[in-house]
Amino acid sequence: MSSTFALAGNPNSGKTTLFNELTGARQHVGNYPGVTVEKKEGTVFIDNNKVHIVDLPGTYSLTAYSMEEIVARNFLVDEKPTGVINIVDASNLERNLYLTVQFLEMGLPVCIALNMIDVAKNRGMEVNPQKLSKLLDIPVVPTIARSGVGKDELMRAAGKVSSFNKRDRIKISYGTDIDQALMEMEAEINAADFLTNVYPARWIALKYLENDEQITNLGKQNNPQISSRLEQIVKKTETHLKTTTGSYPEAEIADHRYGYIKSIIKQGVIEYNVDKDRLYLTDKIDNIVTHRILGPVIMFAVLIGLYQFTFTYSEMPVGWFESFFGWLSGAASAVLPDGLLKSLVVSGIIDGVGGVLGFVPLIVFMFFGISILEDSGYLARVAYMLDRVFRIFGLHGSAVMAFIVSGGIAGGCAVPGVMASRVLKSPRERLATLLTVPFMNCGAKLPVFALLTAAFFSDNEATVMLIITCIAWGGALLVAKVLRVTVIKGAATPFLMELPPYRFPTIKGLLIHTWERTWQYVKKAGTVILGISVVLWAMMTFPGLPDQKARTFEAERNAILNTASAAVQEEIKTASEDTKLGEDAQAVKEKMEMVDYKEAEAALKNSIAGRIGSSLESITQLAGFDWRTNIALVGGFAAKEVVVSSLGTAYSLGEVDPEENESLAERLKADSGWNPLVAWSLIIFTIFYAPCFVAVVCIAREAGSWKWGAFSMVFNTGLAFLLSVSVFQIGSLFY
Ligand code: GDP
Ligand code: MG
Repeated sequence: MSSTFALAGNPNSGKTTLFNELTGARQHVGNYPGVTVEKKEGTVFIDNNKVHIVDLPGTYSLTAYSMEEIVARNFLVDEKPTGVINIVDASNLERNLYLTVQFLEMGLPVCIALNMIDVAKNRGMEVNPQKLSKLLDIPVVPTIARSGVGKDELMRAAGKVSSFNKRDRIKISYGTDIDQALMEMEAEINAADFLTNVYPARWIALKYLENDEQITNLGKQNNPQISSRLEQIVKKTETHLKTTTGSYPEAEIADHRYGYIKSIIKQGVIEYNVDKDRLYLTDKIDNIVTHRILGPVIMFAVLIGLYQFTFTYSEMPVGWFESFFGWLSGAASAVLPDGLLKSLVVSGIIDGVGGVLGFVPLIVFMFFGISILEDSGYLARVAYMLDRVFRIFGLHGSAVMAFIVSGGIAGGCAVPGVMASRVLKSPRERLATLLTVPFMNCGAKLPVFALLTAAFFSDNEATVMLIITCIAWGGALLVAKVLRVTVIKGAATPFLMELPPYRFPTIKGLLIHTWERTWQYVKKAGTVILGISVVLWAMMTFPGLPDQKARTFEAERNAILNTASAAVQEEIKTASEDTKLGEDAQAVKEKMEMVDYKEAEAALKNSIAGRIGSSLESITQLAGFDWRTNIALVGGFAAKEVVVSSLGTAYSLGEVDPEENESLAERLKADSGWNPLVAWSLIIFTIFYAPCFVAVVCIAREAGSWKWGAFSMVFNTGLAFLLSVSVFQIGSLFY
């Protein structure tokens, strides 16, 4: 009979590479029944035996939080493979063994492919397979999947694991409270033969403690009585843990699993071959860099330095991109006749593509900076120092970079910020980071704040900006916390204390890292954004003014022109864009331009975006926003920069130059619909509402699902509205 092996491991451990090496052309791809998770199968011939191999989805754990984890677990339970070939990244042993331990707890026959030993060696680590094998009591075969080293030995070793005793491969102590609960539960489970034909008793008990829905539901169906008795024990343990340690079973279990792994690794499984001088130097540097007081000071200096580097040095290339697109717009305007096509090409397409490519220099500089910090080993220290704070909010210390780049200091951009969250390894913490970095005060929101502070808080501008920054941070961290206990619930990735030695990054390494990440951005974001940009353009353009209305404005302009003297009329008619007009002509021209603005306002109000803005007025009134603000906010979905310029248009002031905010600010100050309370309400709304669509596209791509892109739009806008309404309504009581 041919045997079946499941190939399992963390993402990026080299699973696909090994699978291809082993099966070559003898593989086919399908789906797991009922879900869209890819199922790859293939065959290997080893010593004339035919072995069937199934490539399980890559997972870090075997909880039931993701589709991949459930698929992997069900396969192991339902299909009962002969054994598991667990591919383990030797250069990341601690994290990878977390999954191994869970296979062993499930009582599965496991054989380890200790992969990437070349990488580990390059990092100065010698992993000892014999020792690991002895401590875990399973075969361990060193491999280099990329060049096929060790694959035959691996298959031979795998052939032997099936004869293992399947039960109780390891027994980890989870601390007195949980151990006690496990013992009681195991007794109940064994006495009633509760699910024991499928799972080991201790494992079932653990799953009950971890609140694993799949298992508890199965248990309820199988034997409701026992199931509820087990749940009682779980409740009791939970309450007890909470009152005594403030912890909860899942966290305790994860911590002890890592503890167990650490204790195994400490027994000489990894030998560090890094030359002594470098280690010594590393220690010396760490004494300063992670010092209690100096450490954070240096860290903030470095983070601010990175931030400056990203935004200052990219200024010039950003300028080149801007001039190029400016030139392109100009050229297109000159060539195309006035009308819809011109508007589409200039405002829809060129602005859209320019919007995407305009971020490229930022991303290049940021990733170059991050690569330096990452490759040198400093980023790990930053994460280490901040982890304790971030952890409280369900985030990981490494997320700080993403927040800073997104505008954590004020002025940044969520697009590179979202990309920066790639340094996070745990999917849940990464998702929480992706979803909260857009709350930071990016460079495009600053003009909005600048406008409102200039208009209403001109005496305390600095203080107000500081408050705004604090609100953004506080909001981001709290929302992260809320998300991590609700929609992206799951244990924190315990921070691995292993800090790599410092080293000089190589230029080649830096350039490759930077290039890969930048290209991914261009490739992924570029395709969708053009489409959305055109849609937004259409929303702000169509259906346009009815002809009759447009004629009224034209007539008004002509009337103004006709009041002027013949000489002035001639001067205006023959003037080109850059001609300097005489004083009288200038005055007439300005009057005519006021009509242009009014026309633009009327057209905007009549557009789809304008109609949305108007129809929302009855609701947004609760937050103090009238239809003009609504249009600006709808436009802000395209890019937050648009908020100020749309407000300008809506208040008939046309293009608002950043230097000339004054006029719009004064206009707002004078408008009866505005007061400091409305300003605060709008500030809060601007901080929290939907990210601009480039950021949304990036979030969707990085999270691997449009669901999260949509979530960030709906959730953020809902939250923003709720907060603004609260501020406005509560404020109205006192104001
Ligand atoms: P998966 O996510 O587990 O399927 O990982 P992949 O098979 O896609 O491998 C991730 C990366 O690691 C690829 O670039 C591989 O070429 C590389 N890789 C895999 N095994 C080894 C190895 O043993 N040594 C080295 N240096 N690289 C490896
Ligand atoms: Mg793969």
